[in-house]
Amino acid sequence: MLILSRFALKIIPGTTDPMKTSRKHFIYGSIAAAAGIAAGPRLAGATIARSRMVGSGLKLSFEPYDLTLKHVFTLAGSSRKTTPVMLTRIEYDGITGYGEASMPPYLGESQETAGKFLDQVKLGQFKNPFLIEDILDYVDALAPENRAAKASIDIALHDLTGKLLNQPWYRIWGLNPEKTPDTTFTIGIDTPEVIRQKTQEASEFRILKVKLGSDNDREIIETIRSVTQVPLAVDVNQGWKDKEKALEMIHWLKDHGVVLVEQPMSKEDPDSNAWLTDRSPIPVFGDEAVQRLPDLFKVRGAYHGINIKLMKCTGMREAFAMAQAARSAGMRVMIGCMTETSCAVSAAAQLSPMADFADLDGNLLISNDRFSGMTVKKGKITLNDLPGIGVKPL
Ligand code: MG
Repeated sequence: MLILSRFALKIIPGTTDPMKTSRKHFIYGSIAAAAGIAAGPRLAGATIARSRMVGSGLKLSFEPYDLTLKHVFTLAGSSRKTTPVMLTRIEYDGITGYGEASMPPYLGESQETAGKFLDQVKLGQFKNPFLIEDILDYVDALAPENRAAKASIDIALHDLTGKLLNQPWYRIWGLNPEKTPDTTFTIGIDTPEVIRQKTQEASEFRILKVKLGSDNDREIIETIRSVTQVPLAVDVNQGWKDKEKALEMIHWLKDHGVVLVEQPMSKEDPDSNAWLTDRSPIPVFGDEAVQRLPDLFKVRGAYHGINIKLMKCTGMREAFAMAQAARSAGMRVMIGCMTETSCAVSAAAQLSPMADFADLDGNLLISNDRFSGMTVKKGKITLNDLPGIGVKPL
């Protein structure tokens, strides 16, 4: 009740999912506006876009691919050197939209499960790629979970439709590309020597993200502070077990230039996270506790903000709805990612002008990217003018 009452007055009453409805109108309004722009000085382009709505159905194809990480990646509880992904394409009238599912093993999906799911998806039945809601509702209803696999279709469809409109999605959504935040760059748990080396390599970034939740959290922070004084974001990945000690640690971290804490305690324990949020001198974000849009309503009050990731929430459609809903609820927004190619990272970057914080470094942590896309300039996410999600295959 504490959780619900805190934000009750800030939510539009009378519907179970108000943001979804208003978002639909907003998106279709935006698409109409984009088409309207084209209908003025570029009437020919708009005519071509309309004529493409008639013809053969959408064609989906996919390809498993293994990302090679530059450094062994260690979280509280696991470490790895590769990340399996599935690269998808949706083709329509000679235009190709690109998508991606990234599947770190701890999330429960694999190339095998994604392949099995994608095999069931019959996109050929859809002749109009702009029926985004119909298409993605159909995909979502095919099976529970499979959220990364679903995201790979969502991203490819957004890329395709953006290309058909000849507009990037940040513009279709009406977002200001100048308002992108800095991205954090993640420093994984490692030996002090390697942490120092990683921190030095990250000198371009104006905010670093540090994975904590082991026994030597203070030592890790002190090691980084021996190299740089930039602000730090801390991700505990549910690693802290005692709320009193966690609060003490948060105060210590604040004194050491930490500006936010992500998922300090178990996602199964909203009360302890809410207790911390009530007392924390810096913002507390939920990550593991918030997967899809309905989770946002469950955790309201337990965190100051949420970390939205395309692979958790089935893609750009729902991520946009979550960002709007969070803002309406007075919560802060972070846009995050897994280790991914520039395909999925650039898709998430389209949303980043809505975010207070971004953690979009997944493509920078790999050595075998397959796309060029959004870039990071002096730590800031920089969107290009390319249509769709703004990527080109390498
Ligand atoms: Mg996290």
